[in-house]
Amino acid sequence: MSRKYFDKYIPIVEIDGDEMAHVMWDMIKKYLIFPYIDLNIKYFDISVENRDKTNNKITTQAIEAVKKYGIGVKCATITPSVNKKIELKIKNDLPSPNASLRNELGGTVFRQPILFNNIKPLIKNWQKPIVIARHAEGDQYNAYECIAERNDIVQLEKKSNGMQNIIAYYKADTLSTFLLMCNNQYSIKSFAHACFTYAIEKSMSVFLSTKSTVSKIYDGLFEQTFNNLFTAKFSRQFAAKNISYEHRLIDDMVAYTMRSAGGFIWACKNYDGDVQSDFIAQGFGGLSLMQSLLINKKKNIVLAEAAHGTIARHFKIYLKGEETSTNPIGSIFAWTAGIRQYGIVNNDKKSIEFASLLEDACKKTVEKGCFTKDIANFVGINASQSMTTIDFIKEINFAIKNSFG
Ligand code: NAP
Ligand code: MG
Repeated sequence: MSRKYFDKYIPIVEIDGDEMAHVMWDMIKKYLIFPYIDLNIKYFDISVENRDKTNNKITTQAIEAVKKYGIGVKCATITPSVNKKIELKIKNDLPSPNASLRNELGGTVFRQPILFNNIKPLIKNWQKPIVIARHAEGDQYNAYECIAERNDIVQLEKKSNGMQNIIAYYKADTLSTFLLMCNNQYSIKSFAHACFTYAIEKSMSVFLSTKSTVSKIYDGLFEQTFNNLFTAKFSRQFAAKNISYEHRLIDDMVAYTMRSAGGFIWACKNYDGDVQSDFIAQGFGGLSLMQSLLINKKKNIVLAEAAHGTIARHFKIYLKGEETSTNPIGSIFAWTAGIRQYGIVNNDKKSIEFASLLEDACKKTVEKGCFTKDIANFVGINASQSMTTIDFIKEINFAIKNSFG
């Protein structure tokens, strides 16, 4: 089938990336998408080389396009470390594209595991996905830090209506370290709104975790904001769907998660979300089996990606001309989320059906025992029985063809 561009359709903004993730991205398009479906795509190559060549203008253009059209699929990208800058001869200081996207698009990142019947989670009672909603703004991530030497004085002062108030005064008697972090109610409320809306869409209960017993004011604001919004706007809709909202202390929440069957949304503060999403990912089968959705309901934006990075170690092997056994499932599910959203906004049933068909083809392939090395290791079979990246993708293609009959 030849590729046609449907200009009347709201496009998908495709954001291409780096290294092994980019190699798989190309294979996925070539074997699993373009032969089967016509999509209106606006393509942006934000590989590290192109970001450097364009002085990062390409990233800005890609972000603007996602803002304009509202649907994005993103391949993993390099955030160059000092060593990587030297290795790749990068001339510019390039910020993390993901941080730029998050800052510009706002919204909330929902990370969820992709489940298969024959990949049993490490926690045997987990039967349904646990979705981590991370409040990806503020706290430790744009905090102020300092070191104080013996006899240095560090104080926190608040000025309000011309009144000065010293909140904290600290005289260091030995080398000490300090952290000042902040957040704001608008951002917390938007986060709560995103979690509750997503919960209704997915018919899943929500838990917010904080440590409001210790941090009565800071974490207290999170707890109160969620409670107030829930009571004012969402309690009736939740009751109608037979789902619930509850605040739990983070330690209690971790313990509950280990005992639970899953099937809920866990709203996490920024740092907790960073840590807990890795814990949940590993428990369900690894980063390669996680989907990551950045959703901003108010701006009608959905940006889908895999949760893993560019898989640099595998790329080095690939560059030597050797076959790798890299798992494309997370990237495929980024595409299916994007295509499904494309179908929804364009009222195009065929795209929605194709997204489900492709996900189904992945399920059939894995569930008949075709594995990449990471899955083989996870389920405890000999890694020598695992497939190469390309053979695994061809096997999924075979499953798609079978579905079409
Ligand atoms: P990574 O790309 O996630 O890979 C870390 C390790 O996890 C791999 O070496 C591999 O383990 C395993 N792995 C991850 N995805 C896999 C897959 N699909 N199939 C099989 N194994 C997989 O993390 P990284 O190597 O630390 O980061 C590399 C680059 O990615 C960095 O430049 C970082 O900035 C970037 N990054 C980008 C994003 C993003 O764009 N969303 C996110 C995170 C990191 P084995 O080597 O043991 O097989
Ligand atoms: Mg993390």
